[in-house]
Amino acid sequence: YPKEIADIYHQSDQLVFQTGLPQINREDSFIDDQNKKRFILTSKIPIKNENGEIIGLVGIDRDITKQKMAEETVKYERNLLRTLIDNLPDAVYVKDKDFRKIIANTTEVKFMGFESEDEVLGKSDYEVYTKEVADSSFTDDKYVFTSGQPQLNKEGFFIDNQNKKHWTLNSKVPIRDEKGMIIGLVGIGKDITDRKDEEFRLKLFESVITNATDAVAVTEIDPNDVHNHKIIFVNESYTKMTGYSKEDVIGKSPSILQGPKTDKTELARVAEYIKNYQPCEFEVINYKKNGEEFWSAISISPITDGNKNYTHWIAIKRDITEHKKIEQELIKAKEKAESGSKAKSEFLANMSHEIRTPLNSVIGFSDLLHKSKLDDIQRQYVSAVFNSANSLLDIINEILDFSKIEAGKLEIENEKTDIFELGYQVADVISYQAYKKDLELLLNIGLDVPRFIWTDAVRIRQVLINLLGNAVKFTTTGEVELKIEILQKDIEGKSIFRFSVRDTGIGINPENQQKIFEAFSQEDASINRKFGGTGLGLAISRRLINLMGSELKLESTPQVGSTFYFDLKLKAMDGEAIEWKNLYEYKKVLIVDDNVNNRHILKDMLALRLINCDEAENGLEACNKLEAGNKYDLVLMDYHMPVMDGITAIEKIRNELKLTELPIMLLHSSADDASINSACQELNVHQRLVKPIKIENLFDSLSKIGISNNQRKIKLKEIDVKQPAHLKEYKVLVVDDNMFNILLIKTIITQILPNAQISEASNGNEAVELYRSVQPDIIFMDIQMPEMNGYDAAKVIRSIEKLNRIPIIALTAGTLKDEKERCLEAGMNDYVSKPFVSSTIVSAIDKWLVSTFEKSFVI
Ligand code: ADP
Repeated sequence: YPKEIADIYHQSDQLVFQTGLPQINREDSFIDDQNKKRFILTSKIPIKNENGEIIGLVGIDRDITKQKMAEETVKYERNLLRTLIDNLPDAVYVKDKDFRKIIANTTEVKFMGFESEDEVLGKSDYEVYTKEVADSSFTDDKYVFTSGQPQLNKEGFFIDNQNKKHWTLNSKVPIRDEKGMIIGLVGIGKDITDRKDEEFRLKLFESVITNATDAVAVTEIDPNDVHNHKIIFVNESYTKMTGYSKEDVIGKSPSILQGPKTDKTELARVAEYIKNYQPCEFEVINYKKNGEEFWSAISISPITDGNKNYTHWIAIKRDITEHKKIEQELIKAKEKAESGSKAKSEFLANMSHEIRTPLNSVIGFSDLLHKSKLDDIQRQYVSAVFNSANSLLDIINEILDFSKIEAGKLEIENEKTDIFELGYQVADVISYQAYKKDLELLLNIGLDVPRFIWTDAVRIRQVLINLLGNAVKFTTTGEVELKIEILQKDIEGKSIFRFSVRDTGIGINPENQQKIFEAFSQEDASINRKFGGTGLGLAISRRLINLMGSELKLESTPQVGSTFYFDLKLKAMDGEAIEWKNLYEYKKVLIVDDNVNNRHILKDMLALRLINCDEAENGLEACNKLEAGNKYDLVLMDYHMPVMDGITAIEKIRNELKLTELPIMLLHSSADDASINSACQELNVHQRLVKPIKIENLFDSLSKIGISNNQRKIKLKEIDVKQPAHLKEYKVLVVDDNMFNILLIKTIITQILPNAQISEASNGNEAVELYRSVQPDIIFMDIQMPEMNGYDAAKVIRSIEKLNRIPIIALTAGTLKDEKERCLEAGMNDYVSKPFVSSTIVSAIDKWLVSTFEKSFVI
């Protein structure tokens, strides 16, 4: 034998000899000389002598290689099969003739919602599925068993052990034994749930698209030319909308709907999107099969094949012909309305000019008449005319402003404005009304407020005057305060200012606090009857503040009072500090005023110059303080106080307390009260200040008191001896197409310049002629005139005049924006707004005529 097998035989021989035991059916394998594996089966039995000693052995060998190999193959085949079916993506199972599962591959076990094959084996469908599913499966099984035919690819569904629904594609094939008898069946199930879902979704989409009211068209992109699309699908709405049948359009280009009126520029724009596969929306005119035009709103989006390759476009169209019609009508209506509103505001501007011209005469002449010699009744009548004309003018101005704002014609200016001056001016406008109603008017400008702001001063003034006017109108006792404070300083070069107007009046009911800001609306009709007014003031103010980028706000309690306020973010700049002389002389000042807010304001102002204060609420308290020996450098004495008024207190100070030299400054509400006048002279009141007190006036007066009386007297004398300029023979040219206005201005001029020679012109041409022949010293020039207007006349005069620039003062109606700028542009020096009263003309003459000659003119 070869060595390998000899070794094996030797080993087993030894085992028999050593143990004395037989070796039965021992299997050994080896590789033979042809390099093949061989198996042998050996049995060895010991041969013993009579003494029981082993003397040999009997051996039987059999070559079992063939048999062994066959067994191995079977074993591998089974495992192989199992491994194979377990790794199949499809579910595979075998059922026996009792309809019970005897094999289930891994996919089937999972598919059924179980963990291991054991849970499934031996079970019939009735133990696993719902009756409906098991019945159907049972019918199929029976068919296969009885017919012996396979059943292929049958769709079905079942609910698995986890309650999940699966869609399946089932095939069942009979299994036969060697004799051809059917002993079972093998089933293969494919999970087609995803496919089914997809199908369902597609069906859903299809029905949505088919039933959509919008027309839908799907086009296929030619892979060789992205601009070439062919329609592959259209829905019902598409055929209805266009009149084309499906057959008409499938395979055609979507441009089939375009025609002569389809906007080519719009199509070119869309082509750009298409080139870049970007979705896009557009509106164009399309054409139906019968040639009828319709507007369609189209939205197109590209579709990819899932691999980022663009393959199709989907277009959704809507017929918007009706919308377009309405849109066109709306545009037309809007244009019409706009031109109507333009016509309206032009009409209003013209009307108001026409109304102002006669009103100018009414106001001007009644003012003159008022100053002439009249008896009391006549004076009353004239002032009624004057006041009514002024109210009429206010109303016209309000209506005009409102219509301008409504027409979006009002623009907000931005100019450097002295905030203190602004406060003083509005307070001055209101102070007389407040005085008449015996109200305390407080002007409270924060001392840290920078001097200059950039804003529309005219409009802020208008709002503040309106708010203050209302405050005075709706307040019977107490006070009205205008407060300007700084809320936040210097953020991005701007500061936030708060302007507020507070009163202690009737207040406004909460339910009306919104309403009063609307146009023509007042809190209630009874208030209107009692107080009058158009109800436009707040509406205008609110809109003006809105135009300035802010809100007009209100806090109010009925019977307690109201505060209207607004905040503005404005560019601001501190002004140069004004130096007042002699202020250091004041160490301690006594403030006598019954209004606590007023005392505070004065105290704050004086504190700015490090002046200490003591306070008294009325004349009596002040006298007591003085009598008690308190020393003051100055007494600031309010005139109007309860218990003891200012004049009575000063009388007591001078006559009883004998403080004849103690400087006293009287604070009162109106400058022209004759009794105050004479009392002040008698009682040696050093200065008088009209309330509300302005910081500049206060410091001015304080520093003036420091100058000795003698010096002042000398100064006054000097002025008196100068020869009055107004007696000179000035040549004045007056240009206006309205004869009453000419008469008015002539009358005013003659009153102040009695020797003036006045020439008249009724239009620009005449004015230029007279300018040449008369060579006037000053011209008052109306703007709106026939033949040649004021601007042109001024330009002509400027072009022909030689060295001297003659003052030309425009008489503007002030209704048109930029009217004033245009006057200055045309070369005029200044403007006077109509209606003018004598004092306006006086200031203009003082500024432009007398200053040209000598500054000693006294009115
Ligand atoms: P007008 O004063 O011309 O009536 P406004 O628009 O200025 O119009 O004011 C509208 C209404 O708001 C007034 O009629 C009044 O009822 C109310 N109102 C305005 N300001 C005040 C205020 N300070 N106190 C009380 N009520 C006020």
